[in-house]
Amino acid sequence: MVSHMATDSDIRNNLEAVKARMAAAAAEAGRAPETVILVAIAKSHPAAAARQALVAGHRTFGENRVQEAEAKWPTLRAEFPDLRLHLVGGLQRNKVKRAVALFDVIESIDNERLARAVAAEIARTGRRPQCLVQVNTGEEPQKGGVMPEAVDALVAACRGDIGLAVDGLMCVPPLDEEPSLHFALLREIGKRNGLESLSMGMSGDFETAIRFGATHVRIGTAIFGERPAVAAAAAT
Ligand SMILES: *Cc1c(COP(=O)(O)O)cnc(C)c1O
Repeated sequence: MVSHMATDSDIRNNLEAVKARMAAAAAEAGRAPETVILVAIAKSHPAAAARQALVAGHRTFGENRVQEAEAKWPTLRAEFPDLRLHLVGGLQRNKVKRAVALFDVIESIDNERLARAVAAEIARTGRRPQCLVQVNTGEEPQKGGVMPEAVDALVAACRGDIGLAVDGLMCVPPLDEEPSLHFALLREIGKRNGLESLSMGMSGDFETAIRFGATHVRIGTAIFGERPAVAAAAAT
């Protein structure tokens, strides 16, 4: 089998190239480059690949599955205590304890029961991951995220009796649609809810996302190369 996985020096070079493209997109939009955080998505790639990015100086990473992240990150965190880990995939309530223990940011809050479970775990442990609400901007049945028309109510409930601090929004646009429409929608929902953080933009569309106000871009392939086929399939 031909491997498309990036080598160590590829990962360093790819990180530099992505950061340069981010800075150029920010400059074009009249934004300071440091207003956009690069979340390097390491899902399906081995700990060794993530470690190369850490050695190259990168510190913010994302995973989409709790179990995979638990296998990979505690060892890396022992070596690089200042790293920050984002959960960017769906979270089931039975994994909330493990997610709150491991992640610094949970980007996939998408219903009240989940929000309540996360709030309860934060109260119990005192560990306080930053939380974003995932919005299903394309209203795709197979995808996680709260429907656009229900976001305001969910955010209000979090701020109200649930007592969960929500800092922003996240979306994953449909593959076959113009992403800018989705980024514009997310920005609009953020604006009317007073939410500052917007996690949007992936390898194929992060420059567009930055033009539309992304504060976090989630980039896997452009840093680590193609995901290994078997693991990638298992991760969906
Ligand atoms: C895999 C994934 C990414 C990264 O996608 P690339 O196209 O490889 O950059 C970003 N966000 C989420 C939610 C993902 O699952």
